Amino acid sequence: MSFSSLGLAPSLINAVTEIGYTEPTAIQSAAIPAALRGDDVLGAAQTGSGKTAAFALPMLNALLAKRGARAAGQGVHGLVLVPTRELAAQVGEAIRALVQHLPVPVKVSIVFGGVSINPQMMALRGGADIVVATPGRLLDLVDHNALDISSAATLVLDEADRLLDMGFTEEIGRILALLPARRQNLFFSATFPSAVQTLAHHLLRNPVRVEAASAPEHEPDIAQRAIAVDAVRRQVLLKHLIKENKWSRVLVFVATKYASEHVAEKLRRNGIRAEAFHGDFSQGARTEVLADFKNSRLQVLVATDVAARGIDIVQLPVVVNFDLPRAPAEYTHRIGRTGRAGASGMAVSFVSAETEAHFRLIEKRLGIRVPREQVAGFEPVETAPVAHPATDIVNGGIKGARKSKKDKLREAAAAAATRAAASE
Ligand code: AMP
Repeated sequence: MSFSSLGLAPSLINAVTEIGYTEPTAIQSAAIPAALRGDDVLGAAQTGSGKTAAFALPMLNALLAKRGARAAGQGVHGLVLVPTRELAAQVGEAIRALVQHLPVPVKVSIVFGGVSINPQMMALRGGADIVVATPGRLLDLVDHNALDISSAATLVLDEADRLLDMGFTEEIGRILALLPARRQNLFFSATFPSAVQTLAHHLLRNPVRVEAASAPEHEPDIAQRAIAVDAVRRQVLLKHLIKENKWSRVLVFVATKYASEHVAEKLRRNGIRAEAFHGDFSQGARTEVLADFKNSRLQVLVATDVAARGIDIVQLPVVVNFDLPRAPAEYTHRIGRTGRAGASGMAVSFVSAETEAHFRLIEKRLGIRVPREQVAGFEPVETAPVAHPATDIVNGGIKGARKSKKDKLREAAAAAATRAAASE
């Protein structure tokens, strides 16, 4: 399958070629022809599947066709609703990257809350062709008469499940009432709990269902490694691995803001371009750090889970779990930052005597087994503080008489969760 067989305008085929896509992903092959016909689309797809281009290309195709007959600045053509500011920036920038290569100017506005509304109002003067927005801020802008969405021909709901999870149901209802009744709806979600199904049912007319799921060529190819190392030696090991393997871009996960600052600072002292990335950063600082990371001014980003949520960096070969995640789902989420869009990736977890039992629990829950490795010069010497089964027997082995291993793990996990929550 090639982009030229999907029915897109030649200038869009040229644009995707310019940004380096050689062939459509599974979701693009399925969604684009349907959307070009004008059908509503119900897509089951996650970040990394290529869903942004799957809705952006047909939306731009229709805009270009309309442009043939009309001048620029005729009101909003496409509205893309997203759950978070990170996703708004990411999706907006992806669409901007495409329109850059078009023969006619297309204005893409990105709006989200948590920052001053004034610059966004200024930026919307003169209108916009495509608006990528979080729901709350979009409504604020409409209320300020800075934006009129009554002409939008296409509505995209991106990550609909997260939009509902984050409590935007009412806002979405208000936005729908402001849109023209005759429009195309493109609906994307990674999961389909009943609230999402209800919204899809309410919104879509005879949708074409498309799924990204099981295209083997786009299954993430992530090599998982676990290195046994003493907790106190993780910092030096990290530096060693980065230098030894010449890792060009690494996302390091830590448990706290303090650790994020501390680990980044130590790396910098060793001549590695590293920066912390945590929940205290202002939106401006976040955007700047992410841009530096993407354009390789930064080599290492040391992030907390909260800060890293929603980060999508295509060329991210290595993720390091400096501190292990608390929950198995977080492990999956973290390692999923690498190996995107068909690229291969590596996820390295540091496991110490103290965290070995916790990592085993993660493996068990996820049904995986990652062999422990040792790195020469960094062999662990610490021993596990948790009780050995033999000791339990010596002590009578009576259940309930003393804390079980599981109880201890639960307590440790709860304590870690409290600590991390307090630090975020
Ligand atoms: P998305 O799921 O839309 O966030 O896309 C994931 C990543 O895949 C993005 O960073 C895109 O730049 C990249 N991508 C999207 N479509 C293609 C394609 N057809 N070929 C290669 N990379 C792509």
